[in-house]
Amino acid sequence: MKQTITTSLIALIFCGLFFLYNGIPAGANPPSPGGASVAESHIKTARAELKAAKKALGSDYNCCIEPECDFCALADGKCICADNVSKGKAICGNCYDGWKAGRGQVPNVDVTKIQTLSPDQAKQLFDKLATAK
Ligand SMILES: [Zn+2]
Repeated sequence: MKQTITTSLIALIFCGLFFLYNGIPAGANPPSPGGASVAESHIKTARAELKAAKKALGSDYNCCIEPECDFCALADGKCICADNVSKGKAICGNCYDGWKAGRGQVPNVDVTKIQTLSPDQAKQLFDKLATAK
């Protein structure tokens, strides 16, 4: 019993020394080089740019929630969710979640009947997003 405890203690100390010597285990995120404030600055800029892009799209960005979804702009360069939801057709996951959160903006829509994209429709948009430059 005493030997088991000693062996376990040695193993524990060895592991501690290993991590001290080698730093962060592989796969863990390293510290942010610019800190959280740099990330916040990029996010703020990205939000402003995306808002400007949606405005420039005019009627081609016809979203059904407020605040507007971002997924359709980034993946498809347009949003047809307001038209779709008013016709009982599927909407993007971002808009779907918005409706569930009480952010829907199209009148006379039964929230319990809203549909999100089929797996094939979602795959098409995610493939566009994955290859967007
Ligand atoms: Zn949408």
